[in-house]
Amino acid sequence: MQHLAGNLFIISAPSGAGKSSLIQALLKRHSDMQVSVSHTTRAPRPGEQDGVHYHFISVEQFKALIAQDEFFEWAEVFGNYYGTAKSSIRDSLSQGIDVFLDIDWQGARQIKAQESSALGIFILPPSLTELEQRLNNRGQDASDVIAKRMAQAHSEMSHANEYEYLIINDNFDTALAELERIVLAQRNGYASQAARQQALLSQLLAKSAN
Ligand code: 5GP
Repeated sequence: MQHLAGNLFIISAPSGAGKSSLIQALLKRHSDMQVSVSHTTRAPRPGEQDGVHYHFISVEQFKALIAQDEFFEWAEVFGNYYGTAKSSIRDSLSQGIDVFLDIDWQGARQIKAQESSALGIFILPPSLTELEQRLNNRGQDASDVIAKRMAQAHSEMSHANEYEYLIINDNFDTALAELERIVLAQRNGYASQAARQQALLSQLLAKSAN
């Protein structure tokens, strides 16, 4: 795909590293950024709203969307299906809106294969102890689910080297500032600027009349 005015960011992390909170905090500061709402077959957690946190659908519906080639990427994570629909991402990028994909490493690989300009950012917790504590504090999952997520965390983290940037989320504000710097710097990348500033560039670079 030709570079569009908006940038595509892939954000991955083990559960509990603070990925969603960091993205939400960044979106609050920038109205021209959005997070893609994925489809999933997992049940909503308390407080999660359909169409806001995820589009919650059945396995049958998910499989129908795969068959209709509606997904940009999809993967099975923790025994449930998750996928990013193609619709809306391209429109947002064309309008100069930066789009964040909060997806796992399997999805990141699929996006990278199709969209080489997508920038991967991986978020790590400061320690395994802290990660486990954060999962417990969240209080949303049963203890057997937490144990399973700790085991999955290792596998997710082993793919951190496939990403361009690494953020350690020890202090939230520091991690947020680092994320913001990366995202804003990407906006000044030549390809991004050329898509955004087409008119200005052709004006400045036009041959002088005399
Ligand atoms: P959770 O169930 O905790 O919301 O998400 C579990 C994992 O699935 C997280 O690592 C999250 O990034 C990943 N995930 C969420 N949506 C998608 C998606 O659309 N595609 C892929 N590949 N992974 C996703």
